[in-house]
Amino acid sequence: MTQSRRENATLRGFPAEVDAVICGGGPGGSTFATLMARMGHRTVLFEREKFPRFHIGESLLPWNVPLFERIGVLSKLQAAGPQVKRGARFYHQGTSFTRPVLFANGVDSDHPTSFQVKRAEFDALLLDHARESGAAVFEETRVTEVLFTADGKRACGVKVLLKGESEPRTVGAKLVVDATGRDALLSRHLGGRRRDPLLDRSAAFAHYDTFKRAEGPTGGDIVIVTTPEGWWWLIPFSDGSVSVGIVMPSKRFKERQGTVEQLFEESVLATPEVQELLAGSKRTMDVQAIADYSYSTPRISGDGFCLVGDAACFLDPVFSTGVLLAMQSAEIAAASVDRALRRKGRVDAADFRGFERTFRGAIRRFERFVHGFYQPHVLETFYTPAPNDWIGRGVTTVLGGGVFHPTFKARLWIFAFHACTALIRVVQALRGKGAFERATGILEPEKAP
Ligand SMILES: Cc1cc2nc3c(=O)[nH]c(=O)nc-3n(C[C@H](O)[C@H](O)[C@H](O)COP(=O)(O)OP(=O)(O)OC[C@H]3O[C@@H](n4cnc5c(N)ncnc54)[C@H](O)[C@@H]3O)c2cc1C
Repeated sequence: MTQSRRENATLRGFPAEVDAVICGGGPGGSTFATLMARMGHRTVLFEREKFPRFHIGESLLPWNVPLFERIGVLSKLQAAGPQVKRGARFYHQGTSFTRPVLFANGVDSDHPTSFQVKRAEFDALLLDHARESGAAVFEETRVTEVLFTADGKRACGVKVLLKGESEPRTVGAKLVVDATGRDALLSRHLGGRRRDPLLDRSAAFAHYDTFKRAEGPTGGDIVIVTTPEGWWWLIPFSDGSVSVGIVMPSKRFKERQGTVEQLFEESVLATPEVQELLAGSKRTMDVQAIADYSYSTPRISGDGFCLVGDAACFLDPVFSTGVLLAMQSAEIAAASVDRALRRKGRVDAADFRGFERTFRGAIRRFERFVHGFYQPHVLETFYTPAPNDWIGRGVTTVLGGGVFHPTFKARLWIFAFHACTALIRVVQALRGKGAFERATGILEPEKAP
C-alpha cells in the first residue's frame, strides 16, 4: 500500500477498498447495505444528505412487512409507533363511486396491514439499522462518479466528495450499487432514462397538522380521491397529522398561472371532498412539487454493478409501490451478489439475470394497474362491484404489493380482473361509449385536453 493510500484508508476510518459500495441511503440503499453487512461482506454506504431529511413516499404496503422482519428492523419500526394502515378508500369526486380496499381480503390474507410513516424518521431508522448491522455509513458524502475498468465494462469503485473537502476520494469495490433514487447516478452510463408518455404526471404535496379521520380502525387508511384531472392522496400519521398531495398531468403544472402553491391551494378549494377532510387544519410546510416522474432504465445491471429502487425505475405513485420496489429489489439483488462473491469473488452481469427477471416482472404487474388507473374502462371496472368476490381479492393482492411471487391462485384472479376490464370495453362499445366518462369527467389519456 502506498503512503497516500494508507492515509486515505485511515483518515476518519475511511475505507480504500471494500466488497460493496452503496450509493444512496434511502430504503433501497439501506436495505442493500444491511443485508451485505449481515452476510459478512465489507460494505460502505455513501449518502449525500444528513439524516433525518424530508422525503416523499409515506404510505407503505403490507408485503413490505415480512421484508422488514427479514432484515431485522420490524421490531424497531413498531417501537417507533407508526400509523397502522389496514387498507385504502377510493372515492370519485362529486359522484357515488367508491371502493374500499381491505388488505386482509387479499387472496393471501397473511398480509393484512402495513404502516404509514414520516420518511425523515423512517429513512433515518433504516440507515441506523444498516450501521448497526455492520455497514460503514458516511452521510453528507456525495458520490461524484462510478469508476469503470479501462475497457469501460466493469464497475470497480467510486469517487466521493466528503462535506468540507474539495478533492474527491477514491474507493475500490467489487460491486457498486446505484441506489441514488431519482438522481439515477448510473443511468447516463447506461443510455439514459426512458420516460413513459402514458404517465406524464407531476405532483404537489404538503403536510397538515390534522384532518377529519374516519372513526374506528379504518381511520388510518390512505384516502384516494379521483378527479377528472387526476387524484389526491391523504395519508394519516400516528401523531394526527396528514400528508396531502395532488397528481395531475404535467401539462397542468407547466401551463399554470401563478405558483405551484397557488395551484395546490386552488385545487384544494375545487375538490369539496378534500376541502371537507381538511376543514380547520393548518398546513405545516411549504408546498413541494416533483415533475414528470415516471421512467425506466433499459439496463439495470452489468459486470460489478446494479441499480435498485428509483434509480432503476419509477412508477406513478398511485398504489404506493415505491418503497416496496426499492427494498425488495435490493433484497433480491443482494442475494445474487452474495452467491457470486462467495463462489468466485466477483459479480458478473450474468449473476443478475434472475434479479432482472423478477424485478421487471413485478414492475410489469404494477404497471398494468397503474396504466389502467388512467383508463376510464379500467377505472370503471375498479369502481364496479366485482361479479365474483375472488376478482376483488386478486386486485387487493396487487394493491397490497403481492407482485414479486404471486401464487397461482392470485395470478388467476388478477387475470380475471383484466378479462373483466376487456369485457367492459366491449359493453361500452355496444351501449355507446362514454357513460362512465360522462359521469366522472374522466377521459382516456389520448383524449384529455
Ligand atoms: C409524489 C410521490 C409520491 C410517492 N408516494 C409514495 C408512497 O405513498 N409510498 C411509496 O412506497 N412510495 C411512494 N413514492 C415513491 C418513493 O418516494 C420512492 O420510490 C422511494 O423513496 C425509493 O427509494 P430509493 O431508496 O430507491 O430512493 P430514495 O428514497 O430517493 O433515496 C435515494 C437517496 O440517495 C441519495 N443520493 C442521491 N444522489 C446521491 C449521490 N450522488 N451520492 C450519494 N447519495 C445520493 C439521496 O439523498 C437519497 O437519500 C412516491 C413518490 C413520489 C414522487
